Amino acid sequence: MGSIEGMVGPLKDLEDYKGSLCDGRVVFYRGKKVDDVTKHPILSLAVNHVGCFFGEGIEDNELRKRLFYHDPELKATVSAFYKEPRSPSDLYDRFQLTYDVTKSIGVLVAHISSDAVFGSKIVASELGGEYRERLLSYVENVAKNNLFMAGAQIDVKGHRTLRPAQQKDADLYVHAVEEKSDGIVVRGAKLHTSNAIACSELFVLPGRAFREGEEDYAIAFTVPANAKGLKMICRPAIGAEAALNDLEGARASKVAVLESLTIFDNVFVPWERVFVYKDIEKASRLALMFALWHRFTAVSYRVGLADHLIGLAKLVEEANGLERVPHIQKEIVDVVTYAEIQKMCARMAAYEGIKHEATGIYMPNSIYTNIGKLYSNANYLNVIHSLIDIAGGLAITAPSGDDYDNEELRKDINKYLSAAIPGEERFKLFLILREAVALMGGEESVTHIHAEGSERASLIELYRTYDFDRPKQLIQRLLSKMR
Ligand SMILES: Cc1cc2nc3c(=O)[nH]c(=O)nc-3n(C[C@H](O)[C@H](O)[C@H](O)COP(=O)(O)OP(=O)(O)OC[C@H]3O[C@@H](n4cnc5c(N)ncnc54)[C@H](O)[C@@H]3O)c2cc1C
Repeated sequence: MGSIEGMVGPLKDLEDYKGSLCDGRVVFYRGKKVDDVTKHPILSLAVNHVGCFFGEGIEDNELRKRLFYHDPELKATVSAFYKEPRSPSDLYDRFQLTYDVTKSIGVLVAHISSDAVFGSKIVASELGGEYRERLLSYVENVAKNNLFMAGAQIDVKGHRTLRPAQQKDADLYVHAVEEKSDGIVVRGAKLHTSNAIACSELFVLPGRAFREGEEDYAIAFTVPANAKGLKMICRPAIGAEAALNDLEGARASKVAVLESLTIFDNVFVPWERVFVYKDIEKASRLALMFALWHRFTAVSYRVGLADHLIGLAKLVEEANGLERVPHIQKEIVDVVTYAEIQKMCARMAAYEGIKHEATGIYMPNSIYTNIGKLYSNANYLNVIHSLIDIAGGLAITAPSGDDYDNEELRKDINKYLSAAIPGEERFKLFLILREAVALMGGEESVTHIHAEGSERASLIELYRTYDFDRPKQLIQRLLSKMR
């Protein structure tokens, strides 16, 4: 296994990881260049988030132990997320780990690196030749060095119904602009790249299926986060910024997933980092294969987030003295149904995983993965509606943490916010609720509707891949018996 140009590591622990981030990467936050993301009050929240893969913020010792495993082939201890699923049971463990870590830190956990590794290994097994060798060497290095890669898939895209080559500006999709003897030069931009600002490497994946004439766009490659010409403009963490008092923002003030507008301004990529080049078929397949792994991760973390919503809904119901009220029971059951349907989908996607013969990797079942994801996209706002219905207007109108810090006002809060539980307890519960529906509510709503692909993406995939022959035959049999 040769080393890869520009790659850091191995990162043995949190300290190694944090130490590796001050590497000259070009990151902007609210118009200002940030030289050290680990020291920035907001960007460090994304560092904490990636840090969870090293145990940051995870109190449960047993869970911390489950984050790593010894890989006999690599002869190294690596992130358990890099454990290649070799059976439905391994897929199930992957679901469970994502679910448990998400529950533990209260914010979504998506190990994008391993989604990209498994997806690309499967496609590479079909690529053959030097591309396959390159890819295998690269992903082995990534796993062995325990690096976190951001997945830069979705291009800025410009006019939505125009194809990449039809856009007014060719750079609205990332594309190869020059071929050299030692590599390629790429230009363009990706949007919404989660935690790119805190990653070691970016895996740049095709964001759609391509047609003839779009070969320059049909590429996949990786770059280190400090690659020359790479610029990341981080979105504002409005939830964290609004958590002005430490009583508010129980989750938002500790960790954040931060997306960036990721610009490739004539970035040079050596051949050893290019895995798909001007290959329409392979690029299209990689786009879909990465999406499958990533959506399985999505359904898994969404179950963890949904458990939080059940906890909130039930405690608020009890705090308000609403137990046994029929329409409130229905709201609670709606939240439970939302969580458990997704859990069933994630588990079924694992149990009915499909073996990829060439690699031996078990892939999540695409039907259950996409149904779970589509269900999540379509129903999240209904669950927030249920929470708000149960809670009443106090979901937004509760006083602030600063009011609680004022002794006189705290007495008022205790007296006037008491209901079925003491005022102080109910007040704190409503601060957590307000974080879910307001402070982080906007971020989490958009995440649930669009992250890992919008409804349309799952819809198209389900329609394309569902086995309609079986149910059609049922009707055809009846038809055949008619006179
Ligand atoms: C919080 C968050 C985190 C994310 N993290 C990542 C990440 O780490 N890496 C990454 O690559 N991406 C990431 N994404 C991107 C995510 O996959 C996209 O948001 C999603 O695929 C939708 O694409 P879009 O945002 O460009 O919206 P659009 O594609 O503009 O979609 C908006 C609407 O237009 C419709 N539409 C778009 N194009 C067409 C068309 N040609 N024909 C008909 N209808 C169309 C869509 O169906 C949808 O209804 C993230 C998104 C969010 C919100």
